[in-house]
Amino acid sequence: LTQLFRPLDMLGFVYRTIRQGLIDMAAMFRLVDADVEVEDVPGAPALHIERPGIVFENVHFGYEPDRSILHGLDFEIAAGETVALVGPSGAGKSTIARLLFRFYDPQAGRILIDGQDISQVTQESLRAAIGIVPQDSVLFNDTIGYNIGYGRPHETGPAEEAAIREAARGAAILPFIDALPDGFDTEVGERGLKLSGGEKQRVAIARTLLKNPPIVILDEATSALDSRTEQEILKTLKSVARGRTTLAIAHRLSTIADSDRILVLENGRLAEQGRHADLLRRDGLYAEMWARQQADGEA
Ligand code: ADP
Ligand code: MG
Repeated sequence: LTQLFRPLDMLGFVYRTIRQGLIDMAAMFRLVDADVEVEDVPGAPALHIERPGIVFENVHFGYEPDRSILHGLDFEIAAGETVALVGPSGAGKSTIARLLFRFYDPQAGRILIDGQDISQVTQESLRAAIGIVPQDSVLFNDTIGYNIGYGRPHETGPAEEAAIREAARGAAILPFIDALPDGFDTEVGERGLKLSGGEKQRVAIARTLLKNPPIVILDEATSALDSRTEQEILKTLKSVARGRTTLAIAHRLSTIADSDRILVLENGRLAEQGRHADLLRRDGLYAEMWARQQADGEA
């Protein structure tokens, strides 16, 4: 009987290995893909940031030539400001994040950071300046320490370990890690400890804190969470946003109601912008989305 099962066991092993390979490749190809889309201009200088303001100037973009997604988008985020970006699913919110990270170039218009066109600086310097907490974080099949440290792969040693610890503390995941028998050496992911959506999110937040970028993009960073965990995470996200230029993409409006400014995107156009109270008074798309979510919350 063992004879019979050994090949099956092998198959299981091969399956798991391939499956993991695919996950790692998916994570990699997202970057490789993007590198094919855009190239540094010859002799491009590094992005030099003193005041990390962001400007979208008449930005037109589509993934395919015959289907435009963003239709002449204009907006500014001042250095140090936290701006929320909301709108129906498919409006183009994540696309804006991808353009900022220069996974793609706009077909027309410009995106500026601190006055510099991001298509004219090195991608390496651009990506070093921006931290993303993505919609759903992919963890590497490695230790939890490695997964946090991945944001800054260069240094190792005691200083790095202390920095990783600090980042975990800032992301409110340190007590959880310290309670694990192997602490930061605990294997996570497919073959190790399975982390909940909230825990994965905190690893991504810790990664971003460690990277310490002047610009942060939070892409519906709390959408996978129940509302109690969401409230806890929101507190940590606020500490990530402090002192940085932050674009917070949100589905649940209650999470961004206290933002300096809210941009409302509809079909690749800015439909409205303002503070929560102003937008409610306008009685437009935001007010409608708010009313619907309030009703859903009570139901
Ligand atoms: P949101 O984040 O607001 O929900 P997205 O920016 O993800 O919206 O998507 C905007 C539109 O672009 C959608 O219609 C979506 O189907 C399309 N889209 C997103 N990613 C791609 C892609 N890689 N290739 C083609 N179309 C895409
Ligand atoms: Mg999205």
